[in-house]
Amino acid sequence: MNRSLDDSHILLVDDDAVLRMMAGQALRRAGFKVDEAGSGEEALAKLASKEVDLVLLDVMMPGIDGFEVCRRLRQAEFGRDLSIVMLTGLDDSDSIEKAYQVGASDFIPKPINWNLLIHRVRYNLRANFIRSRLVASQISLDGAQRLARMGSWEWWPDAGIFSCSDEFARLFGLAPEIRQSITPTILIETVDEGDRPSLRDARHMALSAGKNYQIRFRHTGSNGNKRVFQEDGHVLLASDTMSSSSEAITQDISEAVANEERVRFLSYHDQTTGLPNRQFFLEVAAHTLEQSRRNCGECALLFVDIDHFKDVNATFGNVQGDLILKTLAERIVNCVRASDLSGFAHTPEGIEVAARAGPDEFLILLSQLRRETDASTVADRVLQAIREPFVLDDQEIRLTASIGLALYPRDSDTLSNLVDHAEYAVSTARALGRDSYAFYNEEIGAVASAKIHREGELRQAMAGNQLLLHFQPKVDMASGRIIGAEALVRWQHPEKGLLYPGDFIPLAEECGLIVHMGHHIFSLACQQMRSWREQGVMPERLPIAVNLSALSFNEEGLIEQLIRCAEAHALPLDSICLELTETSLMQQIESTTQRLENLRIAGFRLALDDFGTGYSSLSYLKRFPIDQIKIDRSFVQDIITDPQDVAIVETIITLARKLGLEVVAEGVETVEQANLLNSMGCGTAQGYYFARPMPAAQLTLLLTAQK
Ligand code: C2E
Ligand code: CA
Ligand code: CA
Repeated sequence: MNRSLDDSHILLVDDDAVLRMMAGQALRRAGFKVDEAGSGEEALAKLASKEVDLVLLDVMMPGIDGFEVCRRLRQAEFGRDLSIVMLTGLDDSDSIEKAYQVGASDFIPKPINWNLLIHRVRYNLRANFIRSRLVASQISLDGAQRLARMGSWEWWPDAGIFSCSDEFARLFGLAPEIRQSITPTILIETVDEGDRPSLRDARHMALSAGKNYQIRFRHTGSNGNKRVFQEDGHVLLASDTMSSSSEAITQDISEAVANEERVRFLSYHDQTTGLPNRQFFLEVAAHTLEQSRRNCGECALLFVDIDHFKDVNATFGNVQGDLILKTLAERIVNCVRASDLSGFAHTPEGIEVAARAGPDEFLILLSQLRRETDASTVADRVLQAIREPFVLDDQEIRLTASIGLALYPRDSDTLSNLVDHAEYAVSTARALGRDSYAFYNEEIGAVASAKIHREGELRQAMAGNQLLLHFQPKVDMASGRIIGAEALVRWQHPEKGLLYPGDFIPLAEECGLIVHMGHHIFSLACQQMRSWREQGVMPERLPIAVNLSALSFNEEGLIEQLIRCAEAHALPLDSICLELTETSLMQQIESTTQRLENLRIAGFRLALDDFGTGYSSLSYLKRFPIDQIKIDRSFVQDIITDPQDVAIVETIITLARKLGLEVVAEGVETVEQANLLNSMGCGTAQGYYFARPMPAAQLTLLLTAQK
């Protein structure tokens, strides 16, 4: 109702024309729009077709009387919410009673006091207006509650009153119509048994101690549908006059709980295998260790490392690799006593957990160990299970694992140490030839700490500028001129003196530091080249070679980084040669070829290092866009005495010439080797005979002299 109350439509129903005239005049003067009806029948007809806000209805009329009109109106759609004010005789208390019984809103006694009439009409219109607003807001509240699957209730225990919303009843599977008969006790009975005491306590504590509460409980519907509800209870404390009451909002939070659980599952499980992840494992394992501490129990931690798993991914791609991992996970889980695919097994002996801890690493915890051999039995079982061939696209794949074991409390009483110790023992298992297991011992611990120490030193070396480059010339054998140089890294160790790559590159590769180190070295080489160019000692087309490890080569964003670094030093890219070993190129042929092409297109020169020691396949040689092959030192070494080496070197030279590639012989130490190679058609060489790797300053002198 938007218009003002005084604009309201009023239907005046009375068989007395004089009264109609006088009342009509008074109402119209007050601003109301007034319509008249002289009988009950006329009134009903008008009301059915016209919008009216209030009816003034005389009780006594010929034909159908006012009571009947009122009764019929209340039954009709259009009359249900209408304000009906009855005009009755003054002391006629029966009529008044009857008027209310048939649904009248109010009554006005006759003879009518005209002033009072206007006030009563206004009062009734306002009351009706407020009531309709209330109804509307109740409807929208009901709608909102229904949408939110949220119900509300109020409870005055002392007065024995419990009142709840429609949706509250619906949540509990009860018809809203029986709302009135719902009691808190009935409701408690519908809650899952295990949750009843806590809910009952919360509600009673609220009333007795004035404690607001929030509680979750489960409810199983008559159709077996399981839901989770959350109730937020609020207390209205007793004042002197009233006793305590409470009210609450109860919401069906099943969806939210299911989502929470899913998020929890995802954040605690590895998606590929469905096993618990490292974090989850550590939480459960910490708990298990704590229990073992109390019971003086023993545990074993197994660190399972799948041997050469990277090759599977490289050969078959990640999708197939994931399939194998899934099977691997299932097999590992089956090896813990009572199997359960979630990675947990609760056995009478204790709890066993298997988890995926890294790309190709799994962790197993065995608790309540009776003897050490129980752990080795499980390790054996896991090795055996992994050894079973995997079938992928009709191909059989065979895998093995290396397992390290650490025992609680023998090897350590902290979880993180146990995991570390087990991981150290993996190296020992690998050293045993893989496909085996090893228990941690102090010796392994000492080796591992030494390694960790050296890793720290290596990081320090980069940060503290202890890495430097030596340069070994590449020489044109006919003229003896320097036509290039290879940068070779050295470590000026603060205590041990100058260290060679063999002393630290393997460690850097193992701990992944090599990628960072590669950038560091490349940047050092660029700095040196810039300095030579600025000094004018560097001939225009004299390339400097930098070695690139396999890990660096496969690094995401490598090309961009190299280009950025070279450009920062204003170096043309064709003045830089990247040396790559065959083995680092043989992993994923397709993507390798692409990467090589990208490097080539960018402008870098490419050399295939240590040629002859790896696959040395002609077909790859044809495919890879390279500029140079370097004959490995091992063939040059015995070339004077070993005819087989002569044959190999000859083949390589012929091959290279056919493919239009430069050939460089590595490790030339004697004049005889140099002469022979030269006569065979290898024009360029590198080796102690011509020059050893030297500090930059020394090469500066040679280059200056050559100029
Ligand atoms: P490489 O790339 O084959 O380098 C040649 C190695 O042979 C160098 O050893 C060099 O000193 C040595 N050499 C050169 N001429 C002769 C010779 O006539 N006789 C003998 N016996 N040896 C000779 P170095 O400097 O110890 O480097 C060893 C390996 O370490 C390198 O083999 C390379 O694979 C790696 N390396 C060196 N510097 C780097 C680097 O900056 N980054 C990476 N990723 N690897 C590097
Ligand atoms: Ca090299
Ligand atoms: Ca080499």
